[in-house]
Amino acid sequence: MSAAEPLVGGRRTPADLLLRDVRVLDPRARIDARHDVRVRGGQIAELAEAGSLQSAPAQAPSGEEELIDGAGRLLLVPAFFDPHVHLRTPGQEHKEDLGSGTRAAAAGGFGAVIAMPNTDPVLDSAPLLRSLRDAAAREACVPVGFLPAITRGLAGEQLSEMAELRQEGALGFTDDGKPVRSAGMLRKALQYQRLCGGVLALHEEDPTLSRGGSMHEGAVSAALGLAGIPTIAESTMVARDAALAGYEHGRVHFQHLSCAASVHAVADAKARGWRVSAEVCPHHLLLTEEHVRGMDTSMKMHPPLTTDADRMALIEGLRAGTIDCVATDHAPHARNEKEVPFEQAPMGTIGLETAFAALHTSLVVTGILELSLLVERMTAGAALFDLLTPIVTLDTQANLTLVDLDATWLAGEDGWESRSENCCFAGRQLQGRVLMTVAAGAVAHRDRALSLVGA
Ligand SMILES: [Zn+2]
Ligand SMILES: [Zn+2]
Repeated sequence: MSAAEPLVGGRRTPADLLLRDVRVLDPRARIDARHDVRVRGGQIAELAEAGSLQSAPAQAPSGEEELIDGAGRLLLVPAFFDPHVHLRTPGQEHKEDLGSGTRAAAAGGFGAVIAMPNTDPVLDSAPLLRSLRDAAAREACVPVGFLPAITRGLAGEQLSEMAELRQEGALGFTDDGKPVRSAGMLRKALQYQRLCGGVLALHEEDPTLSRGGSMHEGAVSAALGLAGIPTIAESTMVARDAALAGYEHGRVHFQHLSCAASVHAVADAKARGWRVSAEVCPHHLLLTEEHVRGMDTSMKMHPPLTTDADRMALIEGLRAGTIDCVATDHAPHARNEKEVPFEQAPMGTIGLETAFAALHTSLVVTGILELSLLVERMTAGAALFDLLTPIVTLDTQANLTLVDLDATWLAGEDGWESRSENCCFAGRQLQGRVLMTVAAGAVAHRDRALSLVGA
């Protein structure tokens, strides 16, 4: 087991709030009703019938209680959890850092995130993990957990010091950005996992099949004359690694599933009782290879956008629970890095600030998914990494997201909290806006529109 606290960072001032007449929706707590919610000293102190609580600033530890009137309309849900973000620290702070990345998270309603290790240098040693966690404790505005590398330098040749990294607070391990190419190496990592715990999160790609392609292999890549990546580059690795996890009784988490065949492989593994979980990104749920036709480099990501049939299978997988949770794979890149010909551009899109609104607009407003299911899947990532799932219940630390489901906005119109702007949803009209995020008991984000809601 890990000795250190699993998550570090977050603002320090405990919140004192009265959220009056908000629609509280928490599928795990089986609540969907109008309530008054009092947060006192960062804890959920009262949960009562709408309109029954009076403002009591004098009793707040801070001497001030912020009153927000939901008018029966604003939605209060458990804060979202993102198990897959790239904060680019250390080494690429021109793209993002712990402060800007976690501000972007809070602006999107995320109360905690897990950072990937493909930094410069790679996060693969205990001293670096210690210093990053110290930096996150100072700079992050929502709590951050870290997944150091499975293999040193992400080179796929030697395992990192997994036991020592777990002692320093590693939630698990990943070589994200790259696959663990060798089955033997992953098997060895699964054997060490038995001793030290922690989930192995896997970016699935067989490089002998993806071969440096820059988009999905299909009709659009043929029309554009771009080298394609076939979906079997992912699905064959998902099947392989599920079998390895089953054989070694290990636990693996499949990152950013992008195609129907991968969903089937995960469903098959789960049916066999193997301990696997999976995530899907908003862009794979909402966009397809057709969006690449304009050669917009913000549509270039790894794995690539696939077909509409794949997209429908991902939505169905999320609905059925074959896919456990939503993750953004928030991948910031500087403008000059993305403003190059499509084939040369780096892979990735930012996603923290648009995830909920984009999914709400295209899947919930249209009646494809229930709102409660979306909330469940946007919070389910925590438990997969042995963390407490945020829940709206008395006497627990407040991890809450306040949303105006009717508010519409143009993605990117006011700029981004992220340091980068490579967003595949930029310019889209979205419905649903995060007004406030309370993370680990403290207000981490307050939207400008909140003053208009006021009390
Ligand atoms: Zn990846
Ligand atoms: Zn990633």
